[in-house]
Amino acid sequence: MENYGELKKIKENKDIIIAIGGCMMQEEHITNKIKKSYSFVNVIFGTHTLHKLPEDIYKIIINKKKIKDIIDIDGEIYEGIPVKRSNNKQASVTIMYGCNNFCSYCIVPYVRGRERSRKPEDILKEIEDLAKEGYKEVTLLGQNVNSYNGGNNYKFSNLLKDVDKIEGIEIIRFVSPHPKDFTDDVINVIKTSKKISRLIHVPLQAGSTNVLKAMNRKYTKEQYLSLIDRIKSQIPDAVFSTDIIVGFPGETEEDFEDTLDVVRKVNYEQIFMFIYSRRVGTLADKMKNQVSEEIKHKRFNRLKELFEENIEKNNQKYIGTVQKILVEGYSKNNSNMLTRKN
Ligand code: SF4
Repeated sequence: MENYGELKKIKENKDIIIAIGGCMMQEEHITNKIKKSYSFVNVIFGTHTLHKLPEDIYKIIINKKKIKDIIDIDGEIYEGIPVKRSNNKQASVTIMYGCNNFCSYCIVPYVRGRERSRKPEDILKEIEDLAKEGYKEVTLLGQNVNSYNGGNNYKFSNLLKDVDKIEGIEIIRFVSPHPKDFTDDVINVIKTSKKISRLIHVPLQAGSTNVLKAMNRKYTKEQYLSLIDRIKSQIPDAVFSTDIIVGFPGETEEDFEDTLDVVRKVNYEQIFMFIYSRRVGTLADKMKNQVSEEIKHKRFNRLKELFEENIEKNNQKYIGTVQKILVEGYSKNNSNMLTRKN
């Protein structure tokens, strides 16, 4: 939001319509701030009114009025909105919207509404079209992909199986699953597939059962580790990536040690690390026992150091092996080097 002032300069002396959109616009205090401090903004739209943007712009041209178009956050799913993709080999395909989990630090359920899944036929058609265009890798996206519900008992495992059959697609990934919903049918599909990536993202968030409870994550440290063991016992070549939040309110030194313990045990290939930051409108923001910035940063650095030590050892196992990877072209900086953009 701090850059919105720049938009004013762009608008000065020009006949330009400025529209600001996205899920943050579903937060009342943000739209109020924009209306108060950035009065030059013509349209504020939410994620569920994206399809109405052309109509809103038309109304502004005709009526010269400002529009705030947010509507109900549990809005319908609109198919057929064109997608601009940043490369031509790898595509992300949203399979569901919203979330029912209400983790205490997260604003998503408030701004994106309850879970709504796209129809299997719409998703499969989109991926078949991508395959025809030459795409090789798809990532199935959702806040909680493994609670995908395509109706008539068509679950995430069914969708994975059907995507697996699409000719031309060679690598399938999915983010983010919720550990509590990671069922054996999904593990079985991954096991039998030659296309589904063995790098499986299983968000931990924290290693301490106390912190997980305060986060409302609905699993314990032991349940998380037993899920990892279950996956490994079925898929011996599985490796893991995760998300970890450091310094959640009330996190003690002992709690943080539990996080380090899980990191040592799982040996992650990749960790997306976050320092906890307060988000207005969430339960965690109202918790009294916030951790100081100094402790949060120190713990973050310790986690980073541990991961870097582990990854160096971990990578040794790939020396001398042959791995399938997707490259998208030559590096801009070194024409002898192949690269991928993400
Ligand atoms: S962290 Fe993920 S699962 Fe939890 S409420 Fe947010 S979107 Fe849902």
